[in-house]
Amino acid sequence: MRQLIQSLGTFPTVLIVTTFSVVCSVALTSTLCFFEQCEAPRIAVATAIAIPAMVAPLATWPLVDLVMQIDSLEKEMRAMATFDQLTGLLTRQAIFDQIQQVMHLAEREHRHVSLLALDLDRFKDINDTHGHAGGDEVLKSFAITVKAVLRKSDYLGRIGGEEFIIFLPNTSEEAALALSERLHQAIRESLVAYEQSSIRYSASIGLVSMVPSAEISLEEILKRADDLLYLAKRQGRDCTVSYNDGKPG
Ligand code: GH3
Ligand code: MG
Ligand code: MG
Repeated sequence: MRQLIQSLGTFPTVLIVTTFSVVCSVALTSTLCFFEQCEAPRIAVATAIAIPAMVAPLATWPLVDLVMQIDSLEKEMRAMATFDQLTGLLTRQAIFDQIQQVMHLAEREHRHVSLLALDLDRFKDINDTHGHAGGDEVLKSFAITVKAVLRKSDYLGRIGGEEFIIFLPNTSEEAALALSERLHQAIRESLVAYEQSSIRYSASIGLVSMVPSAEISLEEILKRADDLLYLAKRQGRDCTVSYNDGKPG
């Protein structure tokens, strides 16, 4: 019903309800007049038209308007839950939900998937030097830069302040490593214009590739990627550490 009202719009819905009320009212009054043989049938029918024609729009308009407002609020809330306000990327919950579905499919088809955990390097320093707004510009620019490197079928989400996840369906470790190198390159080369300055930044990456199985949960894969990311930070940042034969390297 709500979908119907939404697709029709407020004015056409009110018009349809009013017309329907008038038709019902006239039919009922005419039937009663016919059986009861009322003395002034024309006045009765005119009243049967006038009253619903006035009352129906007054009663229906606020209700339809309310339905429309609830609908647009619902859409807004769904968008807020799905997309990060600052970068427009998927939110933590939205990307986890989507990854989970692709993982189930990859498990069934025995296909490789790769997950990259990214954290911008020394972001506190960027905030301290250029202010929080400068840091925000870097986050927005990062989203655009990374999207340009990824394929449309890849997933990119912001899972925390300056922490992101990339999920690559049907991608081996070798291919994911090549992509992460392209990412480092693109990020290194990007200059974020903010006020009078150009901000340079870099990112560290932890990479996990695997054929998903029931034994390992998404939380565990994320934990592994996070541990590798931590190693990348310890190795000097601006690099990727991946999982080779059970050993980080
Ligand atoms: P590291 O290389 O070890 O990651 O160093 P770091 O300075 O990036 O360390 P850390 O991850 O602890 O710092 C993240 C900072 O990101 C702290 C926080 O103030 C900032 N931050 C979190 N969310 C936002 C945001 O939405 N906008 C801005 N401008 N800064 C944010
Ligand atoms: Mg961090
Ligand atoms: Mg950081």
